[in-house]
Amino acid sequence: AKVVSGFIWFNGKLIPWQNATVHVMSHALHYGSSVFEGIRAYETHKGTCIFRLKEHVDRLFDSAKVYRMDIPFSHKEVIQACKDAVTKNDLSSAYLRPLAFLGDIGMGLRPPENTQAELMVAAFAWGAYLGADAVESGVDVGVSSWNRLAPNTMPTSAKAGGNYLSSQLISMEAGRHGYAEGIALDVNNMVSEGAGQNLFLVRRGVIYTPQSTSSILPGLTRDAVITLAKDLGYLVREEPISRESLYLADEFFMTGTATEIVPVRSVDGLPVGDSKRGAVTEALQKAFFGIFDGSTEDKHNWLEPVK
Ligand code: PMP
Repeated sequence: AKVVSGFIWFNGKLIPWQNATVHVMSHALHYGSSVFEGIRAYETHKGTCIFRLKEHVDRLFDSAKVYRMDIPFSHKEVIQACKDAVTKNDLSSAYLRPLAFLGDIGMGLRPPENTQAELMVAAFAWGAYLGADAVESGVDVGVSSWNRLAPNTMPTSAKAGGNYLSSQLISMEAGRHGYAEGIALDVNNMVSEGAGQNLFLVRRGVIYTPQSTSSILPGLTRDAVITLAKDLGYLVREEPISRESLYLADEFFMTGTATEIVPVRSVDGLPVGDSKRGAVTEALQKAFFGIFDGSTEDKHNWLEPVK
């Protein structure tokens, strides 16, 4: 969906949205040389707060490090840029998109010595990624014929623009088959992740999720859910998950910044459990969304006020 807001933070300045343009010869456009983040700001009992801002900015710099990309701003400056992008646009809740990329640095794959990345941060209003009622009623998904990236091809723990070509194939195929989202297996044909979400199963009260070596982006929502689940006393196991475990799960849900926590009601046309949001999923949603209205104590300091 096309989004818009008033100002974008671009290379150190807040400029009008429509002026934040790049040249068509930009390296990132030709070769995919970009790394980015997706972050949410929530209207909370403590005012507008950005969820796990520091960790998202750390992950942005980690992704840049993998690609030897020099971001000419400090972590602190990027954190402030994110806050400013929210406040300058008078947003009480928002989706934030920081993106570092190689601009018009010339043709050829290998960037010249001392190339610096450009950096932008957009903040705009963006609703539930898989639809407003998905959080309660759940979505239908299918296993993709596309595998997720193999280790030592493109590293999935770096959130790089190029990785999202794989996600686009998975997501477009899912759409053609009438699914809300596609689930990818890794190259060993074990469950990996959705096009833009991490995955969790519940069976007999135990929570399972693919370990970080299963070609996944180690999501911050995934980490939050694992932490909250342990706080609530659940056993969480990070281990290889087979395709048929998806069919035999009592509950299945997906997590991500844009997606938040969404139950899956069917996989490949088979109902998950009784096709309704399960009790564990609901308890974790309550704990997660409770951080924003104060009904869950923010004991891990995940809320960062914008001012
Ligand atoms: N996997 C992929 C491929 C993603 O794009 C995302 C969304 N950033 C996630 C997992 C979930 O990560 P997070 O919870 O940090 O948003």
